[in-house]
Order: sequence, then C-alpha cells, then structure tokens
Amino acid sequence: MSRAFNFSAGPATLPEPVLRQVQQELLEWKGERASVMEVSHRGQAFIDCAAAAERDLRDLMAIPDDYHVLFLQGGATTLAALLPLNLAGPGQSADFVITGHWGEKALENARPSLHAHIAASSHDGGYTSVPARESWRLTPGAAFVHYTPNETIHGVEFHDIPDVGDVPLVADVSSNILSRPIDVRRFGVLYGGAQKNLGPAGLSLAIIRKDLLGRHGRDLPPIFDLANQANNDSMFNTPPTFAWYMLGLVLQWVRAEGGAAAMGERNGRKAALLYSAIDGSGGYYRNPVAPAARSRMNVPFFLPDPALDKPFLTEAVAAGLLGLKGHRALGGMRASIYNAMPEAGVQALVDFMADFSRRNG
Ligand SMILES: *Cc1c(COP(=O)(O)O)cnc(C)c1O
Repeated sequence: MSRAFNFSAGPATLPEPVLRQVQQELLEWKGERASVMEVSHRGQAFIDCAAAAERDLRDLMAIPDDYHVLFLQGGATTLAALLPLNLAGPGQSADFVITGHWGEKALENARPSLHAHIAASSHDGGYTSVPARESWRLTPGAAFVHYTPNETIHGVEFHDIPDVGDVPLVADVSSNILSRPIDVRRFGVLYGGAQKNLGPAGLSLAIIRKDLLGRHGRDLPPIFDLANQANNDSMFNTPPTFAWYMLGLVLQWVRAEGGAAAMGERNGRKAALLYSAIDGSGGYYRNPVAPAARSRMNVPFFLPDPALDKPFLTEAVAAGLLGLKGHRALGGMRASIYNAMPEAGVQALVDFMADFSRRNG
C-alpha cells in the first residue's frame, strides 16, 4: 500500500476508515447478499441508510426541523441554476456577492431566470478579499442574496455570516460545509456538491428553509421543482445511492472524530500551520489573500518563479504529496486541506516546502 496525502480540490481525499469499511462491505451489504449499489432505493435497507445519513447531518449541523435536507444530483452547478427557478418568480430580482470563480458561475446560471444584480464584488482586487458588508448595494425586495462563503479556487473565505436582514441568504458551501459549527438559522439555503468535504462526487445537498419552496409561480418541469424532491424524501427519481451511502459513512466518521466543533479546531490548526510556513518562508512562498479572508480549506500559494512549479510538483509526488497543482485560472499551487486531511499530511507538506526552498533558494 502506498496511499499518499492527497491535497486535491475535489473530488478530494476521503477518511481512510471510511474507504476500508466500503471495501469490507462492498460485495455483501447489511445482510442483503448484494452490494449497496445493486439494491433498490425503495427497499427498506436503503431507505434506512438514507434516513440515517439525513439524521446524522441534522445532528452534526443542528439543522432545525423547519428546514428540508435534500440529496440531489447534478452538483453545485445544477443547484446554482435550479435555486433561482425555485426561489423567485421570473420578474423578481436577486443579489449576488462575488468573491471568486464560483460566485461568477452562480451568477451566470441565475441570469436566464431572474434579474440578477451584483451587489458587491472583489473582482478588481483579483479576488483576494471579501467586500465589507457596508459596501454592498442590496436591492430592495430581492428574492434572495447569494454568496460563496468559501471560494475554492481563490482561497477566500468569509469568517462571519453577513447580515442581510429578512432577505433569505443563499450560500454555496461546497468546499466548507461541516468544516466548523455554523448557525443554520441565519440562512435560507445552504447548498453544495458533496465531493469536497462530505463524500464522493455524484451527490449534492440542499438545506432549504421549508417556507421558501413552492412559491415561485413558474411552470417548471416537475423534476426541476425542488418541492417535488422535498415531498418525496429526495427520491422523486433514482438518487445516487452509492454516493449517499458513502456520505453517511463520512458523517459517522465526523461524529466519531468529535463533530463539527472538533473539525473546526483541527482545521484551524492545519490552516495556521500551513499559512505560517508560507508567511515564514522569507518571501519564498506567497499567498496573496488578505489575512482576514484566508480560507481554512483551500490554500493557494506561489513559488518565486513559475519555472519552479514543475520540479516542485514532481518532487512533491515523489514525497507522497498529491494534487498540489493550482487551478488553471490562477496557476501556482493550491493545497486543499478538507476535514479528511490529517494534521500529519499538512505537517508533511510544510516539511517538504521547507526542504524544497532550501534546495532551490
Ligand atoms: C467545486 C465547487 C463547485 C462546483 O461543483 P460541481 O459539483 O462540480 O457542480 C461550485 N461551488 C464551489 C464553491 C465549489 O467548490
């Protein structure tokens, strides 16, 4: 076995005990004499498994009863298109706060369905900060305000939940869900793909305040109307059963590790270790994000010369450190240090970085 530390942004590293359990019960699951992949989503075994995952998520995030938890397909991107259709009528406005690539994408996916308005953007600063709340220009009567609490590519994170009054706050939490405790009540909708912090690709989640669904007044195809998924326990059509099962195992692992609070403490230590290695490198490594907006999940960093990128990546792989190449939009490096990345992985990375800079200074 030569499993390495995997810093990939998504699909991303999964807890090793979860992978071992999957391996162990792959051929025969729960006395079904078949794999979890091979049984009906309408059978009792899968219904129980699905309900347990929802219960665990509600528990771990303290999700109140007046919120739906939907398990869906199509990734965060499809939800970025479906939520505008479901939360607003065609003549309504919605506000977007853009702090990176995914905020831009959410805006593009909303534009055909409503009046999408940019309330604030940190584009001109190269997406290295979050715009101060006082600078946001919100539209009176907007159906919702959309933002991205953690921008996965730019490595920019809000460390406080913005106050938008009574307007529902819609947050794409693909890359920081369950990375620390949050107050779900402050949001109308939390949504994201599972493949960063919660499980494999193929499953997405939407946590939606119940009163927000069913009010759009549009003539939507039934499969696009999230109220139908809500009324059918996310089984309006066949759900991605294997990914749902695995997400359930990841949640059991989070619970065994101490829950959201323990994740938050560990993630804080991991991020502090990596940022102090960058900042303490005498300018060799550089992270351009304003310290108050630095992500605890995705840490982009640059070497002194792009010509060093290739040797850095090659040697990193040889040292057992995978997935460090930055997004093509930014270049450089990016270390994604989600819940499942152990502290030992970040320690191995900072040791490698110190060694590399010594040899290539
Ligand atoms: C990865 C990511 C997405 C895209 O997710 P898909 O599941 O590929 O659609 C959207 N938003 C954020 C914040 C992400 O990190």
